[in-house]
Parts: sequence; structure tokens; C-alpha cells
Amino acid sequence: MEKINYQLKMEEIIKSLDGKTPKLLLHACCGPCSSYVLEILSNYFEITILYYNPNIYPKEEYSRRLNELKKFSTKVQYKNPITVIEDRYDEKEFYESVKGLELLGEKSKRCYECYKLRMTRAAMYAKENGYDYFTTTLSISPYKVSEWINEIGENLEKEINIKYLYSDFKKNNGYKKSQELSKQYGMYRQNYCGCSFSKREREIFEENRLNDTISTILNNNNLGKLINKPEIITGGITNKVVKIDTDKSSYILKILSTKDIDRYEKSESIATIASNNGIDVISAIKIDNKYVNHINGLNIVLYPYYNGKVLLTKELTLEHIKILANALGRLHSIKIDKIGDINKYEKNNFEYLYTLIDERDCFNSFKNNYTEIKNIYDKVYESYSKLSNNYSYVHKDFNRKNVLWNNMEYKIIDWETSTIDNPIIDFFNSAWFLSNDIEEEKYKVFTKEYLKYNTLKDDINIGVYAALIEECNWLYFSLQRALRLNTNDGYEIKLGEESIESSITEIINYYNKIDLMLKLLK
Ligand code: SF4
Repeated sequence: MEKINYQLKMEEIIKSLDGKTPKLLLHACCGPCSSYVLEILSNYFEITILYYNPNIYPKEEYSRRLNELKKFSTKVQYKNPITVIEDRYDEKEFYESVKGLELLGEKSKRCYECYKLRMTRAAMYAKENGYDYFTTTLSISPYKVSEWINEIGENLEKEINIKYLYSDFKKNNGYKKSQELSKQYGMYRQNYCGCSFSKREREIFEENRLNDTISTILNNNNLGKLINKPEIITGGITNKVVKIDTDKSSYILKILSTKDIDRYEKSESIATIASNNGIDVISAIKIDNKYVNHINGLNIVLYPYYNGKVLLTKELTLEHIKILANALGRLHSIKIDKIGDINKYEKNNFEYLYTLIDERDCFNSFKNNYTEIKNIYDKVYESYSKLSNNYSYVHKDFNRKNVLWNNMEYKIIDWETSTIDNPIIDFFNSAWFLSNDIEEEKYKVFTKEYLKYNTLKDDINIGVYAALIEECNWLYFSLQRALRLNTNDGYEIKLGEESIESSITEIINYYNKIDLMLKLLK
């Protein structure tokens, strides 16, 4: 049977409007799906969005999608104004409608009933409240069956006597355009359809993908057979970290969230250079001559497992600090083979972010300390710009959290930020963090030991300010995350929100100790 082009059917209806602007009740499931649909339909209709989605689980997710939708609808200026109405949320309505179909999976009869439930409510609401047409955003998703959506709409038109606006919004690259719009407006994009079953299906998909990836790596590289279930452990800030035990050895697998694979490849090669120069590091295992491998849609890096622990600041003795100062001094004194392009930081626009902050508590410390932070940053950036071109291999995150200890043996981990840059930034940052905000004895031990191995070629009066660039950049990154400017991932947004206050405290504390740092060094 020939496929019906519902997009064409919609265009025919729009043509027949003859310049009139009828009232349309648009059922919507979330902000991203509505973005492109609104862009199209708002030119021809006066739209009211009905948010009726008792399928969405859990309630927090339901509210989050609603808030995102409301926020988006006010951000864009449409030809005709948009109103958003939240309908009731009663999960029972959804569970009753899909009874017996729960385990059928996506695009199954379960979904047919789910579309029908939500579209029936929209048709009824439209009829009762005097709308001219009703429709839904659902057909924008490639994971939804447009034929079913339009069949349901057509049946409802007859049953309830309210005109249905056909649609297949995914046509003409609609889905891609909705993705671009949600990126442009920094919208949260969920990674599962909505119901508890689809959430679990997504989790199972991710688990299976991870297990398949692990099997592929182990089999192809003769790394042994699994003896335990892989354990997801808390790892770096943005990457998932998994511990793997085989009958031959144990490994750590990092699943990268970054798409900047080249940068990662380079930073891992610096870890290997450090290791080849006698510094105790955990460096990645090369697979197919690469540190980063793309398997089953995942970018992964494999490391040997090291049985060590991170020490708390108070557990770091003078001896520990001396060992670390020695390692950092030696890293900075390694001769660089080829410098290549150095990525200098652009100046951040804190003023702009200040205009975007909202009422969330996470922004309070930024609001309260804005002028001070801005002044500090201006001074820091000016100093950073004056640094010389004396370059070394640098770790850039050389603090107690990135060192594993086994008695007095150590391994430096997390080289993902390592690069080639001016070592004075690493030097002051590490001195600050490892000496617990400049405990004099610890600071003196660190600086004295470091300076046995590496000479700082820049003016320390400039370098000490410039070193604060990393924490300022971290604050900027956290603000961007909290404001959803660089991520849609809920976990990352939360991390951004949680990091702002501590970052501001660090910047101010460091700044206030600069005189002391210089005095002790001289
Ligand atoms: S997968 Fe999506 S469309 Fe299908 S039942 Fe769940 S929420 Fe409804």
C-alpha cells in the first residue's frame, strides 16, 4: 500500500486557511520536540500548548520537561503568541492504558495506546474549549510511528468532531532542526522517551552496550576473561569509569564524554612521556596503536588498574609533598620534542554570564561576589597574557585527588588536561592545593624541592597571579554548565551548579594569600 505523506496533508490544510489564523491546541511532550514545530505552525495558528503527559516518569522528569518547555516558549518571539497549559498528572491513567503491554518495547502497541491516551485528551480539551484544530508534536521523533499518530488523529476527528491537523514533522529534516534549536537555546534533552519502561529499556541498552564493548576489548587484545561483573566507580568529572577484573589482571575503562578525541590522544601521550622519564604515572594502554578507541559508539580509554588510594589533605605529610614536588619538577624539566601550536586561553566574558543568571541558589555566591571576582579575573588575565613562551609538559590538575598512594609509592593519574604550556601555572596551583591553602611548612617544602629540578623562567610576581587562570576558567565552565550553555546533560548541569560556590571561595582565598606566597618564596 502506498504510504500517505502526512506532511503534504498538513500543508494542504494550511493552504486552505486562506490567511485566517485559527486556534490550534497543540499537545506537546517536551521543549526540544516543540521547538521546530512551533517555528513552523506559529506562522499560521494561534497556538495553545497542552502539556498532558502522565506517561512521564518520574515526576521530577515530568516537571523538568514542562519547565523547559515553558522557558523556551517565552524565549522566542513568534508571529502569534504561544500559551502553555499544564494539564493533570495522574500516572494511573497511563498505567491503565498500557496494561498488559508494558514489556513490548518502543514503537509497539504500548506506544500506540500511549499516543492515543494523550491525543484523546488533547482532542477532548480542544473540543470543550472551542479550538478550531488539535494536533501533537509527537510525529517529530524518528522513534515514533507517524502512521499511528495520524490514524489516531483521524479517528478522533470523527469521534469527537474536532478538526485534526495532520503532521509528520520529522520530514524536511525536522528532527535534526529540532536538535539544532535545542542546542541553540541550551535546552535539556532527555535520553529516554518518557515512561518508566522506556527509562529501563534505555538503561538496559547502555548496560548491554558497555558489556559488549568490554568483551570486544578483552577478546581482541587477549586481556583475559571476566571474573567479576564490571563495576562502575566514581571517576573523573565528566567521564564514566568502570573497573574490570579478568583472570589475567585488572583494568580501568574510561568512557569519554568529550568528543575532542585528538586532545585526549595528545594528553595521554604526555603521560607516557612522563612515564618514560621515570615519573610514576598511570598511562593508557595503546590499542590498535591508539590511546582512544571508538567501539560500539563509545570513545574509550583503557588503563592498568593500580591498587592505591587518594589521601586527604590532612593525611599528606611533608614527605608526601616532597615526593610530589620532585615529580612535578621533573615533569616540567623534560625536554620537549616538538612544541606545535599552543592553545592560549581566550578572555572569558563573565559580564555576559552575569546577565544570564537566574534565581537559583547556586548563583548566590556569584551574585554576591561578582565585582570582586571580575576585578580578580581582569588582573589574572592580564598577568596570564604577559607570561613568556617558556614551555614545558604540564599536568594542569596536579593535586592530591589525582595521586594514588600505596604506602609511600604513588601513581599520578588523570592526565586528560595535560598539555604543553608555561609551567609556572602548574607550579603555583600545585603549591597552593598541596600545601592546604599555604600552610607555611608544607609550602616551603614543596617549593624548595620543586626548584631543585626546574627553574622558573618567568617573573614570579606575574606568575603567581597568572596561575589563578585555571580556577577562574573552572568557575566560568561551571557557570556555563549551570546555565546550560555548554551541556544538556542533567548530571553535568548539577555538577556545574554544585561547583560555583567552592570555586569562588578558592579564587578569593588564593588571591588573599598571594602576598604570603611571594614572601615565603623570596
Ligand atoms: S516509550 Fe514513549 S511512547 Fe512508548 S509508552 Fe513509553 S512514553 Fe509512551
